[in-house]
Amino acid sequence: MQRPRNPYSSAEIDRASQERENDERMIELASSGVARFVPIDTERNLISKASGNPEAVFLQGMMARAVASTAEHHIFLGYVEGTPYFAVDVSGKETPLGELGEFVDLRQVGALLFAREGSILAYARGMTYWHRRHRFCGVCGSPTKVIRAGHVRVCTNESCKTEHFPRTDPAVIMLVHHGDKCLLGRGKQFPRGMHSTLAGFVEPGESFEDAVAREVYEEVKARVHNVTYRSSQPWPFPASVMIGFHAEAESLEIEVNQDELASARWMSREELRPENLPKDGSFFMPRRDSIARRLIEEWLGHEAGPSIAG
Ligand SMILES: [Zn+2]
Repeated sequence: MQRPRNPYSSAEIDRASQERENDERMIELASSGVARFVPIDTERNLISKASGNPEAVFLQGMMARAVASTAEHHIFLGYVEGTPYFAVDVSGKETPLGELGEFVDLRQVGALLFAREGSILAYARGMTYWHRRHRFCGVCGSPTKVIRAGHVRVCTNESCKTEHFPRTDPAVIMLVHHGDKCLLGRGKQFPRGMHSTLAGFVEPGESFEDAVAREVYEEVKARVHNVTYRSSQPWPFPASVMIGFHAEAESLEIEVNQDELASARWMSREELRPENLPKDGSFFMPRRDSIARRLIEEWLGHEAGPSIAG
């Protein structure tokens, strides 16, 4: 049985990476009239709520040409069912897009969108975020320019010419368990009542398994083994991919590092049954479109998770 994908993954997008090399082909596609453009304004995506449910707004035809002409470059995202998609950064530009919808943070509406729309918007957002932060070469400080349909920036200094590639920061996220209990923690910035899995960035020179063990030890001083990969999720908020694991703690002994976490507690499967959870807002699980939620649901025995978009 094929396991469901996590929200924001790109399985339905054909990135057609070989076509990025062909500048003429890219110009032809972008001006073809069938291309769809995904506008991004300072990391926010254009969403229409005209039908009641939030829907992604993709620009086509005249509107696409008008908006695309205001941008310095377009980013070729690939094809979805044969239709080419491009991202275009309209930050700070005067556009008529306000008539079509509202620019919002994708995380506010992501769980309500069709999975494929969410994937395209997340990809576009991740790409424009990277461009906005890599205008200059990290090696020599000269300006960079866009090549390969927006998938590379190259240093304009002739004696440097370093190529820079879109950056994705790997982070491990792990549900720690022991016997019939799992460990849920509260980050210092979490909304009141939210409890989630532990997580942290992978450091240079670490395997994912190393990072899981180190993060768990740093946060709650517990040793883990049987670190088992479950699934991953692109999380371009702003620039991560989450690599999800289950990890078995050697005991129930923990010591919460107050510099890293507000609190952490062991919860049994029984305690996590919906009917047993407190109703006063003092405990709730992570958002439905997150891999954290899926890691918990899977451990509870809901293999696919009841709420994972397919
Ligand atoms: Zn340079």
